[in-house]
Amino acid sequence: MSVITITNPFDDHFHDECGVFGVFGHPEAANLAYLGLYALQHRGQESAGIVSSDGKELYVHRAMGEVEEIFQPSVLAQLPGSLAIGHTRYSTAGDKALLNAQPIMIDCNKGKVALGHNGNLTNAAEWRRRLEHRGSIFQTNSDTEVIVHLIARSQARNLSGAIGDALNQVEGAYSLLVLTQDELYAVRDPRGFRPLVLGKLTTPGGFVSWLVASETCAFDLLNAQYIREIEPGEMVRISKSGIESIHFAPEKQLQQCIFEHVYFSRPDSIIFGRSVNESREMLGRLLAQEHPVDADIVVPVPDSGVPAAVGYALESKIPFRMGLIRNHYIGRTFIEPSQAIRNFGVKLKLNPIRGLIEGQRVVLVDDSIVRGTTSRKIVRMVREVGAKEVHVRISCPPTISPCYYGVDTPTREELIASSNSPEEICKFLGADSLGYVSLPALRRAVSDTEGKFCTSCYTGVYPTDLVQLEVRKCAPNAKSDEATHGNGNESAPAERPVVVEHES
Ligand code: SF4
Repeated sequence: MSVITITNPFDDHFHDECGVFGVFGHPEAANLAYLGLYALQHRGQESAGIVSSDGKELYVHRAMGEVEEIFQPSVLAQLPGSLAIGHTRYSTAGDKALLNAQPIMIDCNKGKVALGHNGNLTNAAEWRRRLEHRGSIFQTNSDTEVIVHLIARSQARNLSGAIGDALNQVEGAYSLLVLTQDELYAVRDPRGFRPLVLGKLTTPGGFVSWLVASETCAFDLLNAQYIREIEPGEMVRISKSGIESIHFAPEKQLQQCIFEHVYFSRPDSIIFGRSVNESREMLGRLLAQEHPVDADIVVPVPDSGVPAAVGYALESKIPFRMGLIRNHYIGRTFIEPSQAIRNFGVKLKLNPIRGLIEGQRVVLVDDSIVRGTTSRKIVRMVREVGAKEVHVRISCPPTISPCYYGVDTPTREELIASSNSPEEICKFLGADSLGYVSLPALRRAVSDTEGKFCTSCYTGVYPTDLVQLEVRKCAPNAKSDEATHGNGNESAPAERPVVVEHES
């Protein structure tokens, strides 16, 4: 018997690295930030932090773990004031140090400043080298600290000028919150890779507080009103004098992350002005049009495959069945039996309902395939309970290239679709057929008629300078999300599809 530790339990997906939430002008700012982060927990589960301000001092608490376990009432009581920003982070395999948890706090010539960042800078390594050469001492290995040093070094007279200065020197993706003793800044990069939205909370007495969040689902929890997106290239400064909008950077071609609609964001959020659930259902409908099949039931891989499966079922008129049940209470360590159990790992997370699946021709709908190893186990599991046929349908195009804009991805070599055709992948999965939604259909599903979305992980064509991407590959942030457990089953890189027999 051995205890196995799982970093990312049987979850062969890209992962968002962060969620941010900000509050201005509420007597319980830290409590609201806690609730906001709670709603954004899916954007990062490894560490979280809140910085609050009472107008004179900044107070901080950061820790490893999930929001609920970190922010006990006694901790929140130590975070007074009416301003707060919070951050939740999905850290990476070699990069779990508490020192990289955010928000980052500094005391510089611009005063005390805290920063929370969602996204990744593509020229951070170069800037770090330059800044270290000039004497800057870095406390963390996160790219966010580059922004902090550039703000501190700016000659601008005020903080908004310094933030603009700093951000005009970096390249890549950032949705950023900055807190001072009496101001909250919300900033989005000029290409608008990651979402950031403004909301308003009106208390029964008519008292108004301003909120900023990665996703609108955080506003829903607080009964707050969604006002608008922070625009790409916009810095919103919230102070006692009200809201000021500053356009700090020249306009650039928009590159909103299309994968937010495919997988990252919660389906109950409005992202880039569009309902995520609508996009996902539409993806399922288009998938059914592009890859129809004679089958008896449509089964989603829960939870993320559900809306697309609903769309597929509606379009194809094949009945929708919840044939796989997800265990939502999966932990990080397990006692592994000494006798090998087939598909042990994936069964911790998903279990098929034999009564629904036995003797049926199944359309299995998921949102993406990254390495393919988990999908393969799911197909095998569905066959083991008696499915007559298994047809895999994926509600995005083949993922062939890593992301450098704030998403945790394996290397290109580890992505099964980077070096295998859909036919080869189908064989590897042991499925009867495999169909991916096409890129034009994906664009249609998010109503992208003007090319406003980034699709680099499907095309391998990147909108920013790639000079430093090799550095990023080696950096601690460039994690492989393979499980660090002892059974060896989930370690995808070693498991290549070419030698796999088609299972009957
Ligand atoms: Fe999103 Fe993919 Fe672009 Fe990254 S590369 S920002 S995951 S669409």
